[in-house]
Amino acid sequence: MTMRAPSNISTRAARAAERISRDGAWGEDPPATLEALGAGLQVCRRCDLWRAATQAVGGAGPSGAALMLVGEQPGDQEDLAGAPFVGPAGRVLDRALRKAGAPREEIYVTNAVKHFKHDLRGKRRLHKTPGAGEVSACRWWLDAERRLLRPKVIVAMGATAALGVFRRPTPIGANRGRAFPLDGGGQGVVTFHPSFVLRAPEEAGKAEALAAIVADLKFAWELAAG
Ligand code: SF4
Repeated sequence: MTMRAPSNISTRAARAAERISRDGAWGEDPPATLEALGAGLQVCRRCDLWRAATQAVGGAGPSGAALMLVGEQPGDQEDLAGAPFVGPAGRVLDRALRKAGAPREEIYVTNAVKHFKHDLRGKRRLHKTPGAGEVSACRWWLDAERRLLRPKVIVAMGATAALGVFRRPTPIGANRGRAFPLDGGGQGVVTFHPSFVLRAPEEAGKAEALAAIVADLKFAWELAAG
């Protein structure tokens, strides 16, 4: 199922979310469903990133997905749309998944941090990398997603996602092409964030970055299918 903004959630889920997060005080119990998780995100005050964001952006994809992709955080377009990977990096991800033969509709896609961290420059909202404290605070939600889905394989796309998934700095280039057992079950794989393709200065660099992501996604997809 796809998580939704508060206007679309049931009253019961909204009440449950408010019980989980009330004035920054957190209960012990994680959400029991993806709907409750989506509602809880919208009232989360575990760090300050909610203050400047439009809304929290949870994951999207089937609850039975064997493969989970984790990005860094929602971008400008994701923040407005309330859905992950719908902007320029999302289009790169879609292209990479098609080339890897991995259908996005069978994969759960989320982020390590659920609110958009940014700087205001005039009317423009410029991406700002989440800090380790924000990644740590938001890992509560990532872990909740993992508990609900129990994916066989999790792909951390980029350094921030890797910090969220592996709980320690994990260089991407040195750890690609391998699967690591994860605490709590499943295996972890790393690849570059799709925005790496967009940032590469030359066409050759873009093609090389895309090919690396495609290879890693193909590896993860086949691992999850095995
Ligand atoms: S970024 Fe994560 S931890 Fe911080 S307020 Fe948003 S949902 Fe909560």
